[in-house]
Amino acid sequence: MHPTSYHRPSSVEQAITLFSEREEATYISGGHTLLPAMKQGLANPSDLIDVCAIPGLDFIEQEGQHLIIGATTSHVKVAQSDLVKKWIPALAGLAGTIGDRQVRQRGTIGGSIANNDPAADYPASLLGLGATIVTNVRELPADDYFVSLFETALEPGELVLKIRFPIPIEAAYAKFRSAAARYPQAGVFIARTKDGVRVAVTGAGASGVFRASEVEDALNTCFSLEAIEGIRMDPDMLMEDLYATSEYRANLIMVMARQAMQHMGLAQSFK
Ligand SMILES: Cc1cc2nc3c(=O)[nH]c(=O)nc-3n(C[C@H](O)[C@H](O)[C@H](O)COP(=O)(O)OP(=O)(O)OC[C@H]3O[C@@H](n4cnc5c(N)ncnc54)[C@H](O)[C@@H]3O)c2cc1C
Repeated sequence: MHPTSYHRPSSVEQAITLFSEREEATYISGGHTLLPAMKQGLANPSDLIDVCAIPGLDFIEQEGQHLIIGATTSHVKVAQSDLVKKWIPALAGLAGTIGDRQVRQRGTIGGSIANNDPAADYPASLLGLGATIVTNVRELPADDYFVSLFETALEPGELVLKIRFPIPIEAAYAKFRSAAARYPQAGVFIARTKDGVRVAVTGAGASGVFRASEVEDALNTCFSLEAIEGIRMDPDMLMEDLYATSEYRANLIMVMARQAMQHMGLAQSFK
């Protein structure tokens, strides 16, 4: 058994200092990714720095045309938030479909985007909405934040504090999930913003979440279901695993894109 020390700092500064003073420390939030990894021996941190007791990281608020969500906010709080349901119902709907009840109670938005699982749901919403990730040292646009599979632009010890979501004109998310793992095999988030349409795909990209530029171009020309009818995704840039081939995912992405388009205007039904 690998010895691990547990710390519960009460400020961001304490957390950063603890991290810098320990050999192989790691932050823990909901623990729903990290603890299974530790149980399997895939992660062996010397120190766990629990960020959940830090005041001011568990909140949802509106600032003008933005919703701000703190890093330790659980999936269930996002799903049930009146603010999120009012202003970005597709985001509340997405949070409400992550994993199961236990996962949604403990899992946090900060942990999810720091982990950047290629099949995680939140990355599609951050990239699709053009969100900004605020850390203890800087602000990163989602376009620069998600780098590759389980890889982000975060430096060692950098702590996600909150995420700033611009409120879109409308948005929708559709996913097809594996019956066993419940992660999406393909999930498509479409947002119509004042600067144009953004489309992000999760669960399918060989390098993780990505923007589907061909679909964006078509929808920016004409925002309709018909506009994306003939589009075929390139399987070469998609992942292949025991759940699905890349060709299957290429087709699934466009099925999900059409479903997301059909949700537009019906987004209130996520309530
Ligand atoms: C059975 C099961 C089913 C699931 N299904 C889904 C699903 O369908 N869709 C989905 O999207 N996810 C799913 N998940 C993952 C779940 O959403 C996790 O909660 C999430 O990925 C990680 O969040 P967490 O708060 O538990 O992070 P933790 O496990 O605590 O941490 C994950 C990683 O993020 C780092 N970290 C945590 N917080 C911060 C921070 N503030 N700043 C910097 N680094 C930080 C940690 O050091 C660690 O490396 C599932 C998990 C399980 C166990």
